[in-house]
Amino acid sequence: MEKERTLVLIKPDGVIRNLVGKIIMRFEDAGLKIIGMKMVWADEEFARKHYRDDLDEKYKDVEKKFGRNVRNELVKYLKEGPVIAIVFEGVDAINVARKITGSTYPNESLPGTIRGDFSHISKNFANENNLMVRNLIHASGNEEDAKIEIPLWFSEKEMHSYKTVYDMICFEGE
Ligand code: ADP
Repeated sequence: MEKERTLVLIKPDGVIRNLVGKIIMRFEDAGLKIIGMKMVWADEEFARKHYRDDLDEKYKDVEKKFGRNVRNELVKYLKEGPVIAIVFEGVDAINVARKITGSTYPNESLPGTIRGDFSHISKNFANENNLMVRNLIHASGNEEDAKIEIPLWFSEKEMHSYKTVYDMICFEGE
């Protein structure tokens, strides 16, 4: 089994709330390795490449019931300010990063997760009050998403191969 890579974005609300350090710490503490990191202010075209049209299908019920297009709102949210984009590498990194991130809706996210500890809005409150679900962070949902998202945000040259102390202790065979 190979180590995995996953894309994490600290969304504009995480950056303007000065939570960048605290958020990155959660992933580093779990032993995930930063192999690429930068600050990017996405434009419309780039944000639409990240939030792809499959989201229209996923959120079609919200559109039908509340007349809101979640994908369009998300694109606007992502463009509000600079984001911190990070590629983390590790064993089962995609699932582990999702676990550290918490559920999509912060009110359902457990304490100890980033969304659970730093936000609390619910899906219903957002839908009924026409609000964005500001949940601080994006983490690739699965292998397929990670394969699309990582090359969108990072070139091969922007990712680095090196050993952490964690690698030396946990991942080197006898
Ligand atoms: P996740 O970010 O947990 O992988 P999705 O990719 O399905 O979840 O959704 C992308 C983002 O859309 C969520 O992180 C959240 O910011 C936003 N979102 C989800 N549902 C709603 C909603 N009903 N109203 C507004 N924003 C929403």
